[in-house]
Amino acid sequence: MPTVAAGPEIERLIQLLARLPGLGPRSARRAALFLIKKRELVMAPLAAALQTAIEKIAVCGICGNIDTQNPCAVCTDPRRDASAIVVVADVADLWALERAHAINARYHVLGGTLSPLDGVGPDNLTIDGLIKRAHDPSVHEIILALNATVDGQSTAHYITDLLHDANVKVTRLAHGVPVGGELDYLDEGTLAAAIRSRTPF
Ligand code: ZN
Repeated sequence: MPTVAAGPEIERLIQLLARLPGLGPRSARRAALFLIKKRELVMAPLAAALQTAIEKIAVCGICGNIDTQNPCAVCTDPRRDASAIVVVADVADLWALERAHAINARYHVLGGTLSPLDGVGPDNLTIDGLIKRAHDPSVHEIILALNATVDGQSTAHYITDLLHDANVKVTRLAHGVPVGGELDYLDEGTLAAAIRSRTPF
């Protein structure tokens, strides 16, 4: 019989940590050991933060963002431009745009992208809610900030078709050369998209 180095409580901690994205069993073991060694400094505050998250975190009923209030802080912020809605697949994308201070608008989180292979259809996403919001007279622009993947772009086309009778301008993120990028290193698809999306200088 193989010997178990740690008690069942520690094994359980390792198993739970191993479920986190980006952590395999080996790094979960390392993370568990780190937490145990830093029990007062890291583990206890982490446990408290997790408990607070369980009790307080809610999904915004308007945009789908995650916050401790519903509607979320973005939806209730009067300084936000309510005339533009940035459509993202996931809360992680919303956070990325906020970190970049890219735009001071409101958001709509779809909850994923259409993916027939994975069985994700329109009913699995919050597309209906988006179409309703787009028909609000105060909304003038829908910005599709979706991944430049086949699923992301087919989702963008699907939404654009549904918005044809809403009185909004539909835009999408530019595709092309990343900031600091060198042309020689780009793949052909990105270069071709950059040429097609060229802008006046
Ligand atoms: Zn919200």
